[in-house]
Amino acid sequence: MSTRAVTEEPGPRVRAEVAVDLGGTWLRIRTGSGRTVRLPAPSVLNRPGEDPAALLDLLVETLADTVPADARVAMSCGAAMDEEHGVLHGSGPLWGGGPERPVPLRALLAARRPDVSWHLYNDVTAALASFVERFAEPHHRRVVYVTVSSGIALRTADLTERSVPVDAHGLQGEVGHLPAVSTAPDAVRSLTCPCGGTGHVAAVAAGPALPHVAAALGMERPEAVRNALPGLLRSGDPAAHRLLATVVEPVAEIVRTVRCLDPRTDLIGIGGGYAEGLGEPYRAELVRQVSEVRSYADRDPGRAGRGLRLCRPGEVDPLAGALALSRGALTVTKI
Ligand SMILES: [Zn+2]
Repeated sequence: MSTRAVTEEPGPRVRAEVAVDLGGTWLRIRTGSGRTVRLPAPSVLNRPGEDPAALLDLLVETLADTVPADARVAMSCGAAMDEEHGVLHGSGPLWGGGPERPVPLRALLAARRPDVSWHLYNDVTAALASFVERFAEPHHRRVVYVTVSSGIALRTADLTERSVPVDAHGLQGEVGHLPAVSTAPDAVRSLTCPCGGTGHVAAVAAGPALPHVAAALGMERPEAVRNALPGLLRSGDPAAHRLLATVVEPVAEIVRTVRCLDPRTDLIGIGGGYAEGLGEPYRAELVRQVSEVRSYADRDPGRAGRGLRLCRPGEVDPLAGALALSRGALTVTKI
C-alpha cells in the first residue's frame, strides 16, 4: 500500500469561449451566450487615409475591452497569416496594401490581455473548418473549400490526419493570384488584378471583377450588371450567360485541376458571398463546366457534379470554424 499522499489536482480552468471574425468591413464578436455583436472594422476600407498603426491599436483596444476575464478567444482573420505564431502577413482591406509588414497580432493581444488565451486563424482556414464540421462524412479523406468572394483562395484539409498542411510561412492554397485559365477574349484575360498582376484568377472570377469582365465582353451598362445579372440569367439573356460562364471558368478549372492532381479529394465546397449570392445559376454553370469531356482523363463525366457543393448563405460560419479549430477539430500543420 502506497504511503504517498494523494493530492487533488486542480481541474482545468473553465474558460468562456468567444469567437471573433475580423474582416475589412465588419468586426463580429460572438460571446458564449451566442449573441453576436457587429461593429464596423477599424480598417482602411472603412476609414480611408487613417494611420494603419492607429487602426491596429484601436482593434487591440476594442477586443481587449470586450472579452471577459480568462476567456478563450478563437478569431478568424481576413488576411494571409502564419497561424502558428498568430502573425498576419498584411491585408489590403484592413491596413492598406503598402509594403507588407508582418503584424504580430496574437502577441499584441496577449500583451494587452495576458489572462486570455488567443487563437488566430486565417478566415479561409476557419471557413474550411466550418465546412468540414457541417458536410464532411466519415469516409472523406481530403476536403477542399474554395472561397469566391472579394478575393479567391482555397484550403485543403487532410481528414486522415485531421490536419490543414501549410508551408513554412503558414500559407496554403493562395490560388487567387495564379494565372486564370480562361478561353475568354484577350480583353478579359488582360484585366488587372488588385495585386497589380494581369489576368489572375481574382481579376476575372472574384466579385469586384464582375463589372470589368462585363465591360471587357462589350456588355451595355457594365456598372449596373451586378444588380441586373440574376434577372438577366432568369430571362435567358445570352450575354448574361456568357458573362456567367466567363467568371465561373477559372474556378471550374481550379476544381478540375485539384481533382486531376489528387484523387483523394472526396469533397469540394465553393462558398463566399459572390458565388453564394449568384446561387443556383452559378452552381449549374460550374457543374456544366467541370462535366465537360475533353480527353481520356474525363472518363466519368456524370460523376463530376458529385462531391461538389455550392454553399448556401450562412451554411459556412467562420466564427464556428474558428471555435472548432481552437478546440482541436483540425490542426494547422507546417510541412
Ligand atoms: Zn493578383
